Formats: sequence, C-alpha cells, structure tokens
Amino acid sequence: MLPVLDQPAPARSLARADVADRDWSSWRWQLRNMITSGDELARVLDLAPAERDGLAASAHLFRVGITPYYASLMDPADPSCPVRMQAIPRAAELDIRDEELRDPLGEDHHHPAPCVIHKYPDRALFLVVDRCAIYCRHCNRRRLVGGDAPPSASDVDAGLAYLARTPRIRDVLISGGDPLLMTTEKLAGIVGRIRAIPHIETIRIGTRIPVVCPMRIDDELCRALRAHAPLFINTHFNHAKELTPEARAACERLIDHGIPVGNQTVLLRGINSSTRSLRALFRGLLRARVRPYYLFQGDTVIGTDHLRTPVDAAIELYGSLRGWMSGMCIPHLVIDAPGGGGKLPIGPDYIVERHPDRVVVRTYRGELVDYPEPRERDCTVPYDRVYFAGQPADDDREGSAEAAPPL
Ligand SMILES: *Cc1c(COP(=O)(O)O)cnc(C)c1O
Repeated sequence: MLPVLDQPAPARSLARADVADRDWSSWRWQLRNMITSGDELARVLDLAPAERDGLAASAHLFRVGITPYYASLMDPADPSCPVRMQAIPRAAELDIRDEELRDPLGEDHHHPAPCVIHKYPDRALFLVVDRCAIYCRHCNRRRLVGGDAPPSASDVDAGLAYLARTPRIRDVLISGGDPLLMTTEKLAGIVGRIRAIPHIETIRIGTRIPVVCPMRIDDELCRALRAHAPLFINTHFNHAKELTPEARAACERLIDHGIPVGNQTVLLRGINSSTRSLRALFRGLLRARVRPYYLFQGDTVIGTDHLRTPVDAAIELYGSLRGWMSGMCIPHLVIDAPGGGGKLPIGPDYIVERHPDRVVVRTYRGELVDYPEPRERDCTVPYDRVYFAGQPADDDREGSAEAAPPL
C-alpha cells in the first residue's frame, strides 16, 4: 500500500486507503481508473528526472497505462523499483537505434489472415484484442497494441475461418493485447468457436492480467475457460515483487479450476537481471504451482535498447539457475529470432568435447566428466511399423512434411 504523501488532496489517489474495497476489488473499476499520465503518478511517487522526461514525451512513445492495483506495488521512493521500471517510460525510450524494429519478430510477414500470425508448422497466434491492462515498457508487439485498431468482429470471423481451413494447426495461442480484457461471455464465445474446430487439440491464452489485475480472475471466468480444456494459460511475471497474495491467489484459482498456468519472463536489464531476482521469481512461481516456461532475451523492438541484457550475461545468469535449483522451476532461455525464425534455445554449452566413443560434459558445478557413447548407433524403433500402421498417422496432416522430417 502506498503511503499518502503530504500533498494537496489529490483528485484521485493511487493509495488504496482512498478507495472503497468494493471498487478496488472490481476489475472494471481497475480498468476504468487506469493511470495514464505523469500528473497522476506525480501525486503519489517521487518521479525521477528520467521518468519525468519519459512521461513528458509519452505522447511520442508507446502509450502509458497502469492499473491502480499494479501502481500500488510501486516503491514510491525508489525509481529502480522493478514495478516502476516496467510501467513508467524513461527518456531512454526516445533514443532509438537503427537496429531496433517496429516488428522485431517479422510477424507482419507471417500474417495469412486477419488476427492470425502463423509461423510454426502446427501452431498459430490468434490476436483478438489490441488493449492491455498494463502497457509494458518492453512490449514487443507495441505496433499492434494501444487501442487504435481493435480487431473487428469480421476480422475475428476471418481469422477463425483460416484456423478452420488449415488442418496442420493443432495449437492456438490466443493473445493480443490481453484477451482477458474481453468480457467472459465474449472470450468464452471465441474460445468455444476455436474448440469446435476438430483439428485443434490445445488452446493457450497469453495474459498479464494475473499480474496487473488479479481481481479479473473470478470463478465465472475460470469455469467458462475450464469448459474448453485442454486449455492452458501463460502469464507474465517478471519479478518476485509482483507475486502478491492477490496475484498468487489468481493463479491458484485458475489451477484449482483445472487450468494449468505457465509463465513467460522477459530478462530486463537492471530489473530482474540477477541470479537473486530470477531465483526468487522462479521459486515463488513454483510455490504458487505456476511453471516457469520461457525466459526471453529482450526482442529488438524500438525504444527498448536500455532494457536489454547482453546475450553472454543472459547465458551466465542461466548457468546460475540450472542445477542449483529445482528443475521444475527452470524455464527455457530463448531468443526469438529477428525476422520470424522463431524461438531458439540458448544457454551454457554443457558438451565440451565430442569423440567417436565419448563426449566430455561439463556439470553445473564446472567439473568435466566423460560420458561414454554406446556401441550401437541404430535408433530405429521396429514396433513403429506395427503400432502406427493402422492408425490415422499423427504426422500425416497437410503440411506435415515441413512439420516432422522422418528420422
Ligand atoms: C511463441 C510463438 C508460438 C508458440 O511457441 P511455443 O514454442 O510452442 O510456445 C507460436 N507462434 C508464434 C508466432 C510465436 O511467437
């Protein structure tokens, strides 16, 4: 909770003390009262000069928007607070390098239908909203997010038609923007239409709502989504400070209803780029039963150079996790390749030497160990021919040659 600072009575304070509990715990109130200006923030925080400059220039930057709940996690006295650094623009955002891109992942070239980004063989993104409950300063889809060009009902229809006529798609990731900003009825309607497509096996929803507006995760939403299992949620915690009792309860409510929750973290320089921060985050997630899934190097999106970590630093950090803490809470460290190559795992090299009869591996503690190779090399499975002969072959869908090169 923020202390109320000694200032003229604010028209609307971020401090929870000023707000009725019923309002504070209403997600609609949180969204209606999103903080979008420096004036609102300056009433409850000591803004640092870089934040003042960033906010003053915000008309030229990716938009600003922060729920009062998320703002209440900010340290009012410390500009290096990880919540502040993710939500309040800095002057450095104006300093754009040639290498930085509007569309760092080449998504606009993998856009076969409205709302659809389809770059992998068997799965596609389905972008259904263009607004969020937080406008993250590291957002990689800022060209599409901001509320200027919401997908229309006919865009959604056209996107669904593409998913329905593309049988190699087995997995649809609903994203945006934040899909949980839709009413439960509308979201469940879209999820139900995806579920009705016979070749689609799994559905995922990407959302930051459990982090920035946990009150949105009510039983009605959980039940509506559970009805369309197998459905998974991937959320986006970047720092242990975000793992409040409310946020953890939101994740656990989803999980208790039968919706597995994973987490995607972005490595952010000076925000979570330390062994200590990452360990606390991943352990805290696991205690809430949330599985860390991806840890991303920052994408090369405009205005985020100051937030990116050098690749070597990322690999070194990652090496300080694997082996040192439960494998259950170790995500995959990846670079999402510029231009649309997809996500590539990176990390320390644990194979140091390769010989015909052995490899030399390096343990997480740095010891070198010989790992003898087996004498036999043939890995074919004779029973494949029996077991898969009469089955509708799992890999024989249209386009699957690309999907699964036969071994
Ligand atoms: C990340 C992503 C996916 C999902 O990738 P997974 O590795 O299966 O989680 C699918 N499509 C696009 C365009 C993506 O960026």
